Amino acid sequence: MRGLYVHIPFCRSKCGYCDFASAPGTGPEVDPFLDALAAETARYDHLAGSFSTLYAGGGTPSLLSPEQLARLLRIIETLTGPLADLRESTFEANPESLTAQKAALLRGAGVNRVSLGLQAAQDRLLKSLGRPAMSADFLRAWGALRAAGFDNLNADLMCGLPGQSAKDFMDSMAWLLALKPEHVSFYALEVHEGTPFHAAGVKEEPELSAEMYEAGAAALAAAGLARYEISNFARPGRESLHNLNYWDQGEYLGLGPAAASYLDGERRANAASSAAYAKALLSGLAAPMQYSEKLEGKARRAERLMLGLRRTSGIELSGDIFIEFREEITRLLSAGLLEKDGDRIRIKGSRLYVSNAVFREFV
Ligand code: SF4
Repeated sequence: MRGLYVHIPFCRSKCGYCDFASAPGTGPEVDPFLDALAAETARYDHLAGSFSTLYAGGGTPSLLSPEQLARLLRIIETLTGPLADLRESTFEANPESLTAQKAALLRGAGVNRVSLGLQAAQDRLLKSLGRPAMSADFLRAWGALRAAGFDNLNADLMCGLPGQSAKDFMDSMAWLLALKPEHVSFYALEVHEGTPFHAAGVKEEPELSAEMYEAGAAALAAAGLARYEISNFARPGRESLHNLNYWDQGEYLGLGPAAASYLDGERRANAASSAAYAKALLSGLAAPMQYSEKLEGKARRAERLMLGLRRTSGIELSGDIFIEFREEITRLLSAGLLEKDGDRIRIKGSRLYVSNAVFREFV
């Protein structure tokens, strides 16, 4: 199994908390970007036909015009073949730009999963996050996706937002669950350097976030969406196959600025600058690289362990991992952060929220 990730670095505006490689853009920069993406794609034609899943993320892929989206799909299909033949193909979308026409275009092209950004159901919170779409826009876009025939939809939700009470959060959760999503990705606010929130001095509230997170996870479970990864919940059979492949340390190719790849044991990522990306590829060069490293030996086993522990089913305690990390695993088991189930170990459900404390042991 090999995944293809395509990064579209444009958004309507920049959200206050966002540290993804994305910038406002709907104009003249999109077509040269697609030219550059086509050039980067051509560099990997030896991998054509080897992909099982696609994830087009960003950024906001739905920001592209219908003509640009159709072109993007044609570029992607030079590597994947018809999208309908893949096991899963996901497009990220945001409500302000996802029209009924674009929903129909994506579904008609064989895209079978869409991830739509919600974050909160209260317009005052959406405004304070700098989101360009309000809850009514989300409802319209969700309806357009269902009308186009999508039966596998994810929504993103956040907790620990400035000015968000526990009631606000549970109201958002109930509002979303009434729409019967197949999948929910659910994050506590993190304030990263370089974001507008960081510049404005917005603070994280870890204790409040943890309480909201536990209450939210319980509501999702009660609604039939089981947690299968630290931040991801799904109805049975609706887990994201593309992301499961990441957590299984499977191979993936990332195209576009800031996109990461893991191929032949080498982990690498393109540099984040869209301008530098377009300039290099349009001059016949490879995309500028942010880093590249061969993962071998202990580093490769540590990554396999950490990725596996992101999943609620944990990881099989194979000989090489146990021999390498016996001391750390024993310590985490006695501290009650890990638990053993047959030949598997996993992070205890109640401790998933502090999973970074577990991962720190292995680096
Ligand atoms: S829509 Fe998503 S990628 Fe774009 S600025 Fe907001 S959080 Fe970042």
